[in-house]
Amino acid sequence: MAFSYNPYHTAQRQFDAVADLIDLEAPIREILRQPMREYHFSIPVPKDDGGVAVFRGFRVQHNDARGPAKGGIRFHPQETVDTVRALAMWMTWKCAVVDIPLGGGKGGVICDPHHLTEREQERLCRGWVRQLARDVGPELDVPAPDVMTNGGHMVWMLDEYETIHGGRYPGFITGKPVDMGGTLGRTEATGFGVGYVLREALDELAVNPGDTTAALQGFGNVAQHAAQMYQELGGTVVAVSCWHQGDKTAYTFRKRDGVDIEALKSITSVYGDIDKEKAQDMGYELLPGDDWLCQEVDVLVPAALEGQITATSAPEMSGRVKVVAEGANGPTTPEGDEVMKERGILVIPDFLANAGGVTCSYFEQVQSNMNYYWEKPEVLEKVDTKITNAYRSVSALADKRGLRMRDAAYIIAINRVAQAVKRRGWV
Ligand code: NAD
Repeated sequence: MAFSYNPYHTAQRQFDAVADLIDLEAPIREILRQPMREYHFSIPVPKDDGGVAVFRGFRVQHNDARGPAKGGIRFHPQETVDTVRALAMWMTWKCAVVDIPLGGGKGGVICDPHHLTEREQERLCRGWVRQLARDVGPELDVPAPDVMTNGGHMVWMLDEYETIHGGRYPGFITGKPVDMGGTLGRTEATGFGVGYVLREALDELAVNPGDTTAALQGFGNVAQHAAQMYQELGGTVVAVSCWHQGDKTAYTFRKRDGVDIEALKSITSVYGDIDKEKAQDMGYELLPGDDWLCQEVDVLVPAALEGQITATSAPEMSGRVKVVAEGANGPTTPEGDEVMKERGILVIPDFLANAGGVTCSYFEQVQSNMNYYWEKPEVLEKVDTKITNAYRSVSALADKRGLRMRDAAYIIAINRVAQAVKRRGWV
């Protein structure tokens, strides 16, 4: 029988392990190990050719004890309700670990937007909202873009929601274009957040960032901004990798005396694909895609895909690596994590390291609700404060109890949600 990976089972296993560790009471466990609420529905979409296509849509609200549910909407042909459940659960922990007053949610539609015209996509977005208009909203559940959805989709969804409810409610949804109630700083927030946790980690290790080098997997939104912030701290990025669509393979681009981020961005497509000929002209060495991981560096930032640091790849890391900041979601398998543990590498877990994005989305919602918008430095400073405080709390607990950052982050997040469930008197 073919093995199929089920992220919901993984999410539940991770939760069970921490629930055991903190001896969580049975009724709270029962509430937290599954979603509080799920909506499954059909969305009929009139096609441009006169026919009608019917798509299956979902919204999962894993937990809203700490505040309205928050999470993206994915359009994907292989979407499953179990993927949406897992992602909703992870959103609950991510919002809790950075201590923003939101719960966890996620939505999806089984569809391939590449096969839909713009008008059909608009009808799909409006149809999704029509199915859920009473169950989402600024005070209930706040969607956002995710895989194959973007700011344009969010505006159609907002318009449908406002048409149904008869008013202007920009706080209903985040990821809006800046001229339609989006926030400044969202583009940078996730990658800069990775930079902020790196700053804290190096400070804790009493290592001067100026004496360190780093390699990153990916050169898209997260990696570019993580690299920028790390270089602003004084560090030197010596290698980045990316996928090359034309060659259907990945490459690592290395420059031992330091990558010029702005120059490299100028030869990178919107999909994070670096032009390899131009890069070679600029003096970059072209190495195999996996080589980012075995560079002689102090810092590694996986910021592209899941499942990259494994039992096989982790032993390839140089003995010099001190810190791994997980920019991507789920870049490390449990076996890869074990190897890094044995080597004493400080691993900053994904749901803390990349939480700058959701933190900034929370600030978008706050600004939208009050209909007053901050300048970019103010937004980013607030993101820095939240991420830094979260890092310090997790690190303090890890030190106190002799835990790794990942376990400490889970304990803090689950305890916060459990506490809200208790204070509300749900159990
Ligand atoms: P992106 O699409 O902007 O960039 C992805 C990058 O990964 C591209 O440079 C691409 O070439 C590269 N890549 C793809 N396959 C590769 C391979 N085999 N080897 C090396 N590089 C490869 O995506 P992004 O927004 O930067 O997101 C990256 C990761 O961060 C994802 O796991 C995403 O879920 C996670 N994340 C993103 C955000 C956000 O705000 N963008 C927030 C939280 C988490």
